[in-house]
Amino acid sequence: MKRKVIIIGSGPAGLTAAIYSARANLNPLVFEGAQPGGQLTITTDVENYPGFSEGILGPDMMDQFRKQAKRFGAECLYETVDKIDFSEHPFRLWVNGKKYSSDSIIISTGASARLLGLESETRLMGHGVSACATCDGFFFKDKKVFVVGGGDSAMEEANFLTKFASSVIIVHRRDEFRASKIMVDRALSNPKISVRYNTVVDDIVGSEKSGVESIILKDTKTDEKNEEKCDGVFMAIGHVPNTKLFKGVLELDGSGYIVTKPDSTHTNLEGVFACGDVQDQIYRQAVTAAGTGCMAALDSERWLEHR
Ligand code: NAP
Repeated sequence: MKRKVIIIGSGPAGLTAAIYSARANLNPLVFEGAQPGGQLTITTDVENYPGFSEGILGPDMMDQFRKQAKRFGAECLYETVDKIDFSEHPFRLWVNGKKYSSDSIIISTGASARLLGLESETRLMGHGVSACATCDGFFFKDKKVFVVGGGDSAMEEANFLTKFASSVIIVHRRDEFRASKIMVDRALSNPKISVRYNTVVDDIVGSEKSGVESIILKDTKTDEKNEEKCDGVFMAIGHVPNTKLFKGVLELDGSGYIVTKPDSTHTNLEGVFACGDVQDQIYRQAVTAAGTGCMAALDSERWLEHR
């Protein structure tokens, strides 16, 4: 099945690229990936996307993006790309045993939650450890939970968890938050939220059967360790780009993000474009992702035209 444009990933970047490519009559095919709609589908209110003065729920917003893309002829498949071969033109992709080819590719695979790297964290993931308060908060009614991180995500997750949990403790490795002032103020004024500054997670105690039982915290100034009973630990320490498919093929930066040429979405390979969080570790907003999605669609359209 040969296409002019295939889009990999379906967050605000991928679906905006789909809207623009579809309106250019390029009949784009979108492989939505493991998390259709992207990271906004695991968030609650989006209050900073222009045009929604009262805010909108993340999953609802992404449904609107998808509907809009489909209205102009984009085809969206709930499938994940397994393999890509950029060595020949048209490029070839394998998806669930099927082969596709395309003249141009737009990559918008986004980023995923970063984890601390503790053995207990992986073992207890889904058993009291989580990287998504929106997905799992409901299971912590009247429980005591910890949120790890000091950015906007940590503040947002902590606030959200107070809808269920009896107490929420934010653990941050420094004495100053990275999060924006409005998010910090909102969290700190919530009576259910308290903070442990200059503190890191040394270990999480529990079993798959009993769930999380306690957390071992370490004071970064004194190295003193302290075990505290709790029921859940939520990781909110940022993200890593989803670029496994492109390692050794496309140029990536030191953190694994796809490198795009200045003021464009061109990668180091002709006909391959990247947009959204997979190439942006500075802004990482839905609106900037949508902006670069638009750029990628225009760049690929112009590139196809000039070939
Ligand atoms: P972030 O801004 O990168 O913050 C990550 C936090 O985790 C930082 O406080 C960092 O500590 C900490 N951290 C990282 N690795 C750690 C480790 N190994 N151990 C302990 N702590 C660690 O990520 P984010 O909060 O996910 O936000 C990402 C972007 O999305 C930001 O641009 C943010 O503004 C945006 N966002 C916006 C909203 C909103 O406006 N509604 C909501 C969520 C996210 P240090 O500070 O010490 O580096």
